[in-house]
Amino acid sequence: MNEYDSNRIYDVLATIGFNKTKVRNEADCFVLNTCHIREKATEKVYHEIGRVKKDFRNNKKPLVIVSGCVAQAESEEMIKREPYIDMVIGPQSYHKVGDLILDYERKRKKVNETEFDVITKFDELGKISNSQNKISSLLTIQEGCDKFCHFCVVPYTRGPEYSRPFNQIIDEAKSLVSNGSREIILLGQNVNAYYFSENKKNYRLSSLIRELNNINNLKRIRFTTSHPNDMTDDLIDCYKDCEKLMPFLHLPVQSGSDRILKSMNRKHNIKYYLKIIEKLKSINSYIKFSSDFIIGYPGETEKDYKDTIDLIERVGFINSFSFIYSERPGTPAAKKKLNNIQESKKDLKTYKMF
Ligand code: SF4
Repeated sequence: MNEYDSNRIYDVLATIGFNKTKVRNEADCFVLNTCHIREKATEKVYHEIGRVKKDFRNNKKPLVIVSGCVAQAESEEMIKREPYIDMVIGPQSYHKVGDLILDYERKRKKVNETEFDVITKFDELGKISNSQNKISSLLTIQEGCDKFCHFCVVPYTRGPEYSRPFNQIIDEAKSLVSNGSREIILLGQNVNAYYFSENKKNYRLSSLIRELNNINNLKRIRFTTSHPNDMTDDLIDCYKDCEKLMPFLHLPVQSGSDRILKSMNRKHNIKYYLKIIEKLKSINSYIKFSSDFIIGYPGETEKDYKDTIDLIERVGFINSFSFIYSERPGTPAAKKKLNNIQESKKDLKTYKMF
């Protein structure tokens, strides 16, 4: 999603005369579009700014903007800690970056813009064409999350679930295809929670996939990231009927242990997860799966860990994002006591997936 956002930030900046440069020391402006999902994200931002400072010590200071989820989480603190930063802009406010720069040039007053206002954001972005011209293009359809898994910062940094208007998405998809895209990857923190209602018609992710399936010259459709609880039958059926939907699903499970899933507040269990996998396999024999795993979650025992390994073997995932649990400040899990299993299980990184 940050890649999509970064491209859209470029689109907005182009409207006030900025171009991309590959020559670092020529830049008039640095935008650090940040992610807060893993630990040390904040420190990485300060290190990067340190590098910019060093490179520009004999030149005119460039404008330095920190955007994205670290900006949202740290807000005013960033400007206080590092005066080299001129603006912090949250992920729901980056459509204002052009106006904020023009304003900053007049007043020279530091900017902290971290309001949650996704509706305005997508209305404003809809007026500026998406310049992505890659074969495979990213397209955000939904943002935010209401699920509040106990380890995750997303509901606090991206805000509540919001789905973009159906027609706005289809128009953007058609424009991407006419720019040369042949694959579209629909994005959302909870992409399969997509829900939009207009003129007594309800639209879900399945409605979008079916509409995209009819666009000439579009060859492939993908979507990420899904929550098991939103894998509804209408979406599962798309894997049977929509030939452009790739036979692949990234479906994060996080743990193979029901006890740990409950403690994580995931709101699904392994029996339910496997039921979805079986349904999908039964309607599309080509379908493959990938997932996310957290190892060493507070309270995880050898038995819980073994349950995760058993699940991996049973489903036969073709890929995974597997991480040692890392504490995110402000989340409910951060208040739980860490156990020492996380040190002993680092070898999951070398576990062979098949
Ligand atoms: S569903 Fe995903 S984005 Fe939402 S809180 Fe859980 S892990 Fe985070």
